[in-house]
Amino acid sequence: MSGKVWLVGAGPGDAGLFTLKGKEVLENADVVVYDALVGAGILSMIPEKAELIFAGKRSGNHYLKQEDTNRVLLEEAQKGKNVVRLKGGDPFLFGRGGEELELLAENDIPFEIVPGITSAFAVPAYNGIPVTHRDFCSSVHVITGHKRGNNTYDIDFKALVDTKGTLVFLMGIAALPDLTKGLLDAGMDPDMPTAILERGTTADQHRITGTLGTIVDICSRTTVLTPAIIVVGKVVKLNEEFAWFEKQPLAGVKVCVTRPKELISTMSSLLRKEGAEVLEMPAIAVKPVEDKAPVEAAIEDLSAGKYQWIVFTSPSGVRIFMDELFAKADIRALASVRIASIGKGSEKALNGYGLKSDFIPSVYDGETLGKELAEKLEEGDKVLIPRAAIGNPQLVEELKKKENVTVDDIATYDTVYETSHVLDEHAAMDSDPFDLAVFTSASTVKGFTESLKGMDFTKVNAVCIGKQTQAAAEQYGMKTWTASKATLKDLVECVRIAAKELKEERE
Ligand code: SAH
Repeated sequence: MSGKVWLVGAGPGDAGLFTLKGKEVLENADVVVYDALVGAGILSMIPEKAELIFAGKRSGNHYLKQEDTNRVLLEEAQKGKNVVRLKGGDPFLFGRGGEELELLAENDIPFEIVPGITSAFAVPAYNGIPVTHRDFCSSVHVITGHKRGNNTYDIDFKALVDTKGTLVFLMGIAALPDLTKGLLDAGMDPDMPTAILERGTTADQHRITGTLGTIVDICSRTTVLTPAIIVVGKVVKLNEEFAWFEKQPLAGVKVCVTRPKELISTMSSLLRKEGAEVLEMPAIAVKPVEDKAPVEAAIEDLSAGKYQWIVFTSPSGVRIFMDELFAKADIRALASVRIASIGKGSEKALNGYGLKSDFIPSVYDGETLGKELAEKLEEGDKVLIPRAAIGNPQLVEELKKKENVTVDDIATYDTVYETSHVLDEHAAMDSDPFDLAVFTSASTVKGFTESLKGMDFTKVNAVCIGKQTQAAAEQYGMKTWTASKATLKDLVECVRIAAKELKEERE
């Protein structure tokens, strides 16, 4: 049986502008054929199992010719695969989507189109420019600035000028002098407001404004970054009133987030809410240990009421322990034990199972947890700590200072280092470095450095959740900032402080 092809629009860059349907389809993909314009935030949503084929143009990289792309889609679908063709913006707006369907239609391969948010409208919106406004125009036109094969433009400038509508040119930066001349020669007012909108909806978003008569000169004095669109029309002026994107606290800041994959999204959405562009790089993953005998024995003892305290030191620790518990017993195994958590993340994970912590330390680290919990222990108490194979030794040391207590430190999971299969981190660092990397544990620092071997880490600006993490980052010579408290909220606040300092430094 043949597979199917989904032609999916990824939107203009901001991962939040990807459609729900697109995301759903992507999660089921066996093969993903993607373009250079697809945002990194969206690439990191591609499932681990999917095979990736890069079809876009990117300098220094080889890429597929259009016919080859068409053929790859056909062949993969014929193998029975779910094929997602992921394209920047909307696939049918100057996206060659139509061309890619022809061969599929000829061969009776089923396909679906998932439209995307086009840069033609979204990029002006992110710059505070409504493409239509009743006071200024009654139409909007989207035009390509790409020349035809015979080196001429297929544009009727006179007709465009007569519409009095807003004009949006895609792929037009190289052609800017020709396009403005065409419009001026056709009689458009040289004072017509005109803007170049670079890298819209990303941290690199930037706007150059002028008039039809001045824009070429203005651009000749600066480097115009691509991709960029050109907008010509009275509505362009409205950016002075409506520009909003740059006003967000973390606008213009590209943050690399390293966390275990399953936890990454909370951190990312907090940062995105503040306007940051987030590059997700799962540097570590957690894997349950192979030898389950110790944790199984502990669960039996727990059910028998032999432990007075159970201690959780990470959300992953909670999740993995609960998986083991439910494999053997049920929630009543925890009926008589008191629960201690290292901080809010673990507490939240527990809440998901209908549980609450009886104790959270005043400072969210292993040493303080050990010290403060030791004060609560009574003679003869047994404490169970199901956690990572390499856990902070201070926790156990502090607890053991209390006499006549038993501490069972049981490894339930290992931390493994992961490299993202999609984002070539080396390339990401070289061509488009992020401003800040966020680390939530010493192991994420280690995972990050493992996957970027050979990099100059002294250039990395690291925002760390606590002292141990900071120490790990400093070992690699990174410049560090450390959150005042080990919570996600304080970590985001710390990102804000670091971003502000870096911005000031650059100015
Ligand atoms: N199908 C895409 C357009 C593809 S043509 C869409 O609907 O958006 C490629 C052109 O799109 C680029 O040359 C540029 O003009 C524009 N473009 C795409 N993404 C952009 C972005 N984030 N910012 C500014 N222009 C962008």
